Amino acid sequence: MITRYPTKKIYVGNVAVGGDAPISTQSMTYSNTYDVDATVEQIKRLHFAGCDIVRVAVPDMEDALALKAIKEQIDLPLVADIHYNYKLALIAAESVDCIRFNPGNIGEKSRIKEIVKACQQRDIPIRIGVNAGSLEKEFENKYGQTAEGMVASAEYNIKYLEDLGFTDIKISLKASDVERTVAAYRQLRPKNNYPFHLGVTEAGTLFHATVKSAIGLGTLLLEGIGDTMRVSITGELEEEINVARAILKDSGAMPDGLNIISCPTCGRIEADLVTAVAEIERRTAHIKTPLNVSVMGCVVNAIGEAAHADVAIAYGKGKGLIMVKGEVIANLDEHELVDKFVYEVEKMAAESK
Ligand code: SF4
Repeated sequence: MITRYPTKKIYVGNVAVGGDAPISTQSMTYSNTYDVDATVEQIKRLHFAGCDIVRVAVPDMEDALALKAIKEQIDLPLVADIHYNYKLALIAAESVDCIRFNPGNIGEKSRIKEIVKACQQRDIPIRIGVNAGSLEKEFENKYGQTAEGMVASAEYNIKYLEDLGFTDIKISLKASDVERTVAAYRQLRPKNNYPFHLGVTEAGTLFHATVKSAIGLGTLLLEGIGDTMRVSITGELEEEINVARAILKDSGAMPDGLNIISCPTCGRIEADLVTAVAEIERRTAHIKTPLNVSVMGCVVNAIGEAAHADVAIAYGKGKGLIMVKGEVIANLDEHELVDKFVYEVEKMAAESK
């Protein structure tokens, strides 16, 4: 059982972050934010995949001005991602639920003061998003692009916000490698109680990003560090959420969602299990009810696993059994099994609400 570091609870829209709140998942859209229809469509996809908080890039004024229309059409809390131009944050703060800025590239501290004032007026939090690759010059010159430099930047900016009376803060300390990322979060954790947004930045394509994030974020989660997280993947939107939820689930930090047991396959298999499990994962990714399910390639271990599963498939030659709570409820042709399985899982999830 993981004991989480006690952190302050803040709210990003209606999603609590920190304290006893569940660890939330985040992602970003890749559309041009000013393209309201495309951005809303991507946000809805993320929402369906199980994303809790969505962030959009705000590089120009037309993006900032589109935020109001986007916010009106979505149900997820919306975070505006600001670099360089603090005036975009002032416009964004009128519509969104949180401002994320990178202190290393906002420039004069008086600009951060303006952002803080705008957030205070709307009672929305700020994420201080420190990146190893874009530290303020003073910290980069002193520490280089190290964990120590990231922590020094975060501490400096936390103090700056606190001195302005602003404490609705969450913090991220991202580097593109696991070692610096983990070291930075570990170093900063005992020094304050603000919620942490975890992430390894620019982690690469699905395969490498999954490995890096599972090691880095998994390590931190097992140490009780982390209140919200983003898995950064060069890939499709849903992949970030699927991987993030899997890391939360498999580290024991998230009880909800499906625990899918599937066999590794062997020479006894007589079905296309790889395709079937991939389809099941995709079609059940939105389910948050904690359920144990198993999908096994033959009867050798299927019956034993199914006895402990809420819903199970035991494949045979061209046919298979659907089992619910250890009882066989259907004997179907192979092409009917996934549909019936997903139906039973959705039904059980709906009934347990
Ligand atoms: S369940 Fe059957 S097919 Fe799957 S690994 Fe075990 S013996 Fe092989």
